[in-house]
Amino acid sequence: MIIVLKPHTTDKQINHIIEKVKKLGLKPMVSKGIERTIIGVIGEEDILRVQPLEVFPGVEKVMPVLAPYKLVSREFKQENTIVDVSGIKIGAKNIIVMAGPCSIENHTMLLKIAKQVKKAGATILRGGAFKPRTSPYAFQGLGEKGLKILHDVSKEAGIPTVTELMDIRDIDLVERYSDMIQIGARNMQNFNLLKEVGLSKKPVMLKRGMMSTIEEWLMSAEYILASGNFNVVLCERGIRTFEKATRFTLDISAVPVVKKLSHLPIIVDPSHAVGKWGLVAPVSSASIASGADGLIVEVHTDPEEALSDGAQSLLPANFKILMTEVGKIAKAMGRSV
Ligand code: PEP
Ligand code: MN
Repeated sequence: MIIVLKPHTTDKQINHIIEKVKKLGLKPMVSKGIERTIIGVIGEEDILRVQPLEVFPGVEKVMPVLAPYKLVSREFKQENTIVDVSGIKIGAKNIIVMAGPCSIENHTMLLKIAKQVKKAGATILRGGAFKPRTSPYAFQGLGEKGLKILHDVSKEAGIPTVTELMDIRDIDLVERYSDMIQIGARNMQNFNLLKEVGLSKKPVMLKRGMMSTIEEWLMSAEYILASGNFNVVLCERGIRTFEKATRFTLDISAVPVVKKLSHLPIIVDPSHAVGKWGLVAPVSSASIASGADGLIVEVHTDPEEALSDGAQSLLPANFKILMTEVGKIAKAMGRSV
């Protein structure tokens, strides 16, 4: 249920409604827009049929939210959400590009990549320290050592970071060393992990599960918002289909679909979607043309020797070319990089 307030409703009136909703055993979530304030109500909403809130001063209308996700929906909040990652605004006019290696391997390599991707226009550095690998024998990431490298490089190169969290037990470490928490495709429905990052003050990038529908994905985002963290960026990274030419199939239509259903920003990961470096640039351009708010791209100075995902990693020189191409599309879309 959402309670739409009249324009110019006073704080006193808003607080009165909030108190009333709480007394009914429901959870109010306030969203202050430019035009008007909306209060989302979570819980057994049936009670509102007996206790009509329309009678309270300041209330314009009370409406049911038809989608199963509430706080994530456009019905709850009409304006686009802008997520701030240490000063970088995702979901605003500028397209933002996150770039870096799949895994953090060592300090020298990460610093070199960070400087080059920043120079080419990337504004957030990516790099995994906890790696979700299909094989238990494959490189699992450097763990805390990797996070420390990420933090040091972030300070040296002057660029904020995003890194994956796989386990609730590591949340303090990831919060301490990184600016944004990534929830990977394989953990999209790890509901306890979602609740935990929902309690965090750090922004979260939630990747789409490779076998999840858009609705399931938005329900997962709802877990994070329902726990109190509204700073969520969605990331489409390809889904499983019968097609074998690419690693996954990028669901490009997910971008406009999500834009219609939700106020949250959405970015695209072309690297994991296609799995081949030669396809990353054209798919990046298509993503921006479809309305995405940004990209997350894997870049490595020596893809042949990369400890993970070398085949889909761009050399810095090719990343620079990608940035030029993406810049042109962004401009055509009335945006900039
Ligand atoms: C990654 O970003 O390195 C990664 C493992 O991505 P995904 O969760 O989309 O597979
Ligand atoms: Mn990877």
